[in-house]
Amino acid sequence: MEEVGTNTSKMKNYIRLSTILIIYLIIAFPVMAKEKVVVVIDPGHGGYSDDASAYGAIYKDELCEKDINLATALTIKEELEQYNNVEVYLTRDTDAVLTLDERVDFAYRMGADVLISCHYNASESHLFYGSEIFTSAFGSCYTTGHALATCIMDQWVNDGQASKGIKTRIGKTGEDYYGIIRHGFEVGLPVIIIEHGYLDNHIDYERLGMPEDWERMGRLDATGIAEYYGLSRERVWDNVIPTVITEMPDGRVDPDTTPPGSVSMNIIDCNIETSEVTYEITAREYESKLMYYGIALGDPEDEDADPSDYADLILWEEGCNKVTGTYSVPTGYRGPITARVYNNYELYTDSETQQIDFASLLEERAALLEQAAQEARMKAEERKQAAERRAEAARIEAEQKKEREKVGDFFFFMGGNEKEETIDPATRKKRLYLEIIALVVFIVVFISLIIIRHRREIIKYIRNIEGNDLDT
Ligand SMILES: [Zn+2]
Repeated sequence: MEEVGTNTSKMKNYIRLSTILIIYLIIAFPVMAKEKVVVVIDPGHGGYSDDASAYGAIYKDELCEKDINLATALTIKEELEQYNNVEVYLTRDTDAVLTLDERVDFAYRMGADVLISCHYNASESHLFYGSEIFTSAFGSCYTTGHALATCIMDQWVNDGQASKGIKTRIGKTGEDYYGIIRHGFEVGLPVIIIEHGYLDNHIDYERLGMPEDWERMGRLDATGIAEYYGLSRERVWDNVIPTVITEMPDGRVDPDTTPPGSVSMNIIDCNIETSEVTYEITAREYESKLMYYGIALGDPEDEDADPSDYADLILWEEGCNKVTGTYSVPTGYRGPITARVYNNYELYTDSETQQIDFASLLEERAALLEQAAQEARMKAEERKQAAERRAEAARIEAEQKKEREKVGDFFFFMGGNEKEETIDPATRKKRLYLEIIALVVFIVVFISLIIIRHRREIIKYIRNIEGNDLDT
């Protein structure tokens, strides 16, 4: 059902857009159809002045934004001049000081169709990365600026930049916030500020930190501008007509001023092996888009909470309202953890702070390991005792065997050197009896021989005893 609804509304939008385009072309064609478009490129900042704005952002004490802007702007001009049907001017091609009014006035005098102010970005927190383009919030300055910005942003995104979007910014007076855009609107000149990325953030710096990067960005910008106007390197058109149309807004196009909603974080798993938390973060953003999220070990309600704790902001996957991932914590961490979700207007909402306790998990694991070790020790002890008992039994057995052998040797003095093992118990018993009988026979024969040998003395002795008896 939802799909059908979306398709219907898409179709309606399409029809409406086509109608507007046709009416727009019929009315505006004689006015806007030009043989040549005039594009003025403005390298932001420039010159030497007491005013820090002359330099733009200073990066790593060696890169000065005004120089980088000029390098990119020179490349845009050189590249764009390869196309037909276009005239390109620079507000400055040297390191000169120019006011914002002077830049707009120059473009106006040149009959510019558009003024493109070329910049590189930086943020106070150094957390942000990605490219963004600012346009007027009003009327045709908005529609031209937005449509042109779309073509340039497409080039950047294809090159790998994260898009922070095409935006408006409103000042306190309700007009465009940026002076150059405001002055442009006053004279009916569409002005866009192209912020190529953040040189104070390592993610963008890796892509944009070198002179060849500034030139690459310049070529991408020129390609985007040429795409917008449908320019060709080979062919000369009779008329130049923009290829992208942005719908005319009803009134002022306001930026998003509210942070993301419904931000929550679930801790799905705490892995004590890797010391990693697996999380799931959900958030909603209806007015703009979810841009980044960060995780910090801390409670943002704390007075000491430091926004740089959310270093290394992760890109929020476009079109999703839920992300999952893992976050490394110090071993044994016990304490608060919070997620922070940003929209592309750098407004954020923190999730409710969760408590994670790796210390207790480690203690539990240590206790389990100790229990297992205890059981293993007990089993080893049992095995040892069993082995000792077997050894003792074997020793006793060996001793008994020795004893038996001794007895055997004593009785088997006639039996030669036969080993006990080779004689069965029955034979052994029989032999024992035979040996005893032989011994008894030997003793009887021996005594008999003595008696026979000394028979006279014995008889005499006996008679003597008898005679003595008679005398008394
Ligand atoms: Zn700047």
